[in-house]
Amino acid sequence: MKKATHQATKAHNTTLVLKTIYHNDQISRADIARATGLTRTTVSEIVADLIGAELVRETGVGPSTIGKPPIHVDFNAGARQLLSIDLGGTEFRGALVNLRGDVLQRHSLPLGDRKGAAALQLAHRLIEGLLPQASAPLLGIGIGTPGLVDTEKAIIRQAVNRDWTNLDLRQEFGVRYGIPIHLANDSHVAALAESAYGGHGPVPSLVLIKVGAGIGSGIVLGGELYSGVGFSAGEIGHLRAVRGGLPCTCGNKGCLETVANTSALLRLMREQALRHPETAFGYALAAQEPSLELLRQLHEVRDPQARALVRDLGTHLGVVAASLVAVLNVRKIVLSGLPILFGEPLLDAMRSEIRARTLPEQARETEVCFSLLGSDIVIQGACALVLRHELNLP
Ligand SMILES: [Zn+2]
Repeated sequence: MKKATHQATKAHNTTLVLKTIYHNDQISRADIARATGLTRTTVSEIVADLIGAELVRETGVGPSTIGKPPIHVDFNAGARQLLSIDLGGTEFRGALVNLRGDVLQRHSLPLGDRKGAAALQLAHRLIEGLLPQASAPLLGIGIGTPGLVDTEKAIIRQAVNRDWTNLDLRQEFGVRYGIPIHLANDSHVAALAESAYGGHGPVPSLVLIKVGAGIGSGIVLGGELYSGVGFSAGEIGHLRAVRGGLPCTCGNKGCLETVANTSALLRLMREQALRHPETAFGYALAAQEPSLELLRQLHEVRDPQARALVRDLGTHLGVVAASLVAVLNVRKIVLSGLPILFGEPLLDAMRSEIRARTLPEQARETEVCFSLLGSDIVIQGACALVLRHELNLP
């Protein structure tokens, strides 16, 4: 019992020291002791262990006003590498990254119309294309996937669009490649990326809303991802956004996905063009197929029909985001994916809908903004997922 307690304390202190080094560029042992409240002897022992594991290295002598100048240490991001895999979208994307999430190598494979076993086979090919390129020991494989995911057991319970049910990836990948596997729903993974690398401070409370072929969100409270009791927290795509709307794939009507995902926007563009064939918007849609890029261009030149579509998109997202603001009282609602194409006007429409549906104080306390992480958000989040499980970082 005593031994177990001692080991737990040591593990806790090691995490504390490693986190402190990770979050500081260069730091002396004395400053680590000050920052953590641990004794200098304890810090020196732990740092020696971390240097032995190559996770930390000595970088040289720092300035000193009195006495012996201190030796600085820093986090050795190249000590291990890991694979980050994004199984969302129209292609499977993977990257070999270092412990800071910097991409060292990339590989992607178009999904085509693959489903079920064929889609799984493609994921194997993606991993096998990256593994030989690793130039440091591998810490693990992190995976972001659409669908309902049991994060603890690494099982995809159901991913309708991929035709995967109860797919055990720890069995499938872990056994074959002999390294730890961690996976989560891709919106949850994106929220982890936003939390770790989005520049929101050390203990963020935020919701990351990801809009693309599907719509989902991930909730980070006090720096920790909240997955929910059945791993489906933040599944907002099927909340009702419009009364009496179109039927949805889930069986209900007027879900957010029926008015705000990629295919819904393309459908709304066609409908708008049919209603206003005599306008510039109507002419543009008569000349070319609807696309998000076309909508972006028309919106940018202040085309009234395009503006109306984007305003509606912001309003629909605002309807659902208002509930998140009211229930969670988070600091930020961060958007990633297609909303970024439309800039401030979309955010303004969303903010105004949130104001109309929440207490003034709540609406003021929650900032609505875009993610700055770009299309690598799931790749970076998958890295954060592995770091969290294997090293208790960041
Ligand atoms: Zn639905």
